[in-house]
Amino acid sequence: MIIAGKAIESNDRVITHNPYDNSVAGDVSRASEADVEKAVEAARRGLEDLAHQTPYDRYSTLIKLSGILSQRAEQFAKTIASEMGKTLREARAEVARAVQTAAWSAEEAKRLYGSTVPMDAAPTGTGKVGLYLRVPVGIVAAISPFNFPLNLSLHKIGPAYAAGNPFILKPAESTSMTGEMLGQAFVDAGAVPGAVNVLTGSGSKLGLKLVTHPDVRLITFTGSRDVGAWITRNAGLKKVVMELGSNSAVVLAQDAVPEDMVKRVALGGYSQAGQVCISVQRVYVHEKLFDHFVDLLEQQARALTAGNQLDDATDVGPVVTHNDVLRIHSWIDEAVAHGARLVCGGEINGNVMTPVVLTGTRETDKVVQDELFGPVLVVNKFKDDDQAIAMVNNSRYGLQAGVYTHDLNRAWRYVREIHAGGVLINEIPNFRVDLMPYGGVKESGIGREGPRFAVEEMTEIKLVVFHLG
Ligand code: NAD
Repeated sequence: MIIAGKAIESNDRVITHNPYDNSVAGDVSRASEADVEKAVEAARRGLEDLAHQTPYDRYSTLIKLSGILSQRAEQFAKTIASEMGKTLREARAEVARAVQTAAWSAEEAKRLYGSTVPMDAAPTGTGKVGLYLRVPVGIVAAISPFNFPLNLSLHKIGPAYAAGNPFILKPAESTSMTGEMLGQAFVDAGAVPGAVNVLTGSGSKLGLKLVTHPDVRLITFTGSRDVGAWITRNAGLKKVVMELGSNSAVVLAQDAVPEDMVKRVALGGYSQAGQVCISVQRVYVHEKLFDHFVDLLEQQARALTAGNQLDDATDVGPVVTHNDVLRIHSWIDEAVAHGARLVCGGEINGNVMTPVVLTGTRETDKVVQDELFGPVLVVNKFKDDDQAIAMVNNSRYGLQAGVYTHDLNRAWRYVREIHAGGVLINEIPNFRVDLMPYGGVKESGIGREGPRFAVEEMTEIKLVVFHLG
């Protein structure tokens, strides 16, 4: 736990575990509700102190942070892999992205542009000169998930700091060490002390106090739909940015070439054991390609090694908890009971599940409708583009979708008719670079991340009018 830029020690500990063998990954102090109040108090001072910093000061801190993350890359990667369960290769990739996210956040500190307003273009505006500035929103509560514990926390607190806001980071309890290490890196980069607060502990215990606190002006949350809905109901009069779940789909249109993308689709479904908000979950394949594609996908799935994430040979690490393994399995069983075919995978060893290919499900099955968050690809066929678009849109979610086609007219039709925050042509929905606008429609969320877009969410417009007589 960090309050006002200082590491706080307490006897009450959060212990994090390696999802592969349940061994202890580490421990940090557990925050109490009283600590929420202390963090808000510190952040209030942080907001005042930040007001004396120039954008260049904030840029300098964030660019230094990027350098520190780079220097500590291996330490971060090992901690992330140990407490989250992704493979070391995946954890190193996350750290490399976080180095970039910090650098882009730094750049945004220099781009807080306002604009002039042509007041006298209105009939009653004669003699007035108008402009607007972008000013910090105030204290930002950043609540982050377990699956990208470094980069997704940074997507919140990097832009928050760039825009001149203090933050209170509440990392997922199971990845508390990574959250605290990130906070410490901010402190070491020379951030204003009051601006850096990290509360490690249980979301359900700290949540109500943090979310309802009147001095918190913006909550930026990444996590599950249900917790996001609860926060939105309880937040009161403050801004909320919600980055929630999905059951992302990829379409192989009739002109797609299965050999060209099957590897990519497998990567999209099985990397991080499917625990990515934009993991491919639903694959819709034109009926004339279907059998061939399923054969190729089965070969890909069977070739992957599932096991200990700290072993370099492992492709698919464990699922985060055993309850999640059992939940995923029960959803597969439900689909099979309704007539689906389990093509391969689904063997369980501890928290590790071998990659699953499932076909012939009903559109109403949980494996189709709900967020699976496991190493499962649900593959179904369609007759024509009308049907494929209807199937993709038959979801409460809408984060990103992928479409494989080389027909420009067809591609544009999918872009226009799919309801999602992003449509990727000839790419899987998992693709993300950290500078792009990222977020969902429908129950996948509200607002956008990506430093430039997050900074817009985290600032208010302040209008200035001069009456010049
Ligand atoms: P989660 O909703 O269980 O937890 C997310 C965070 O919320 C954690 O820090 C948790 O401690 C906290 N929390 C829990 N209850 C709370 C409460 N009552 N008040 C305040 N905070 C509370 O999610 P998770 O299991 O950590 O992550 C997986 C989910 O996150 C999936 O649904 C996934 O799709 C989603 N996700 C979305 C994105 C995105 O950008 N859209 C990215 C990654 C993950």
